[in-house]
Amino acid sequence: MGTCRCAILNGLSGALARDLLDKHLREVRTDGMGRTVYLCEDSEVEWLEERQRVGYDDDVSVLRRLQH
Ligand SMILES: [Zn+2]
Repeated sequence: MGTCRCAILNGLSGALARDLLDKHLREVRTDGMGRTVYLCEDSEVEWLEERQRVGYDDDVSVLRRLQH
């Protein structure tokens, strides 16, 4: 397990966000507005995933760290 950077990051997008989602985070709930909340089990940091549309038929994940 590498060093967890969740506690020092504020936001990620694109490939970096995708990578974190795939390898590091666990889906825990949705926020009731169609967005998904993910948890980092190492740091107990929660992330909110938003989808941002790019171009005509593509979108990108944007992760924002939830403050506690
Ligand atoms: Zn983490």
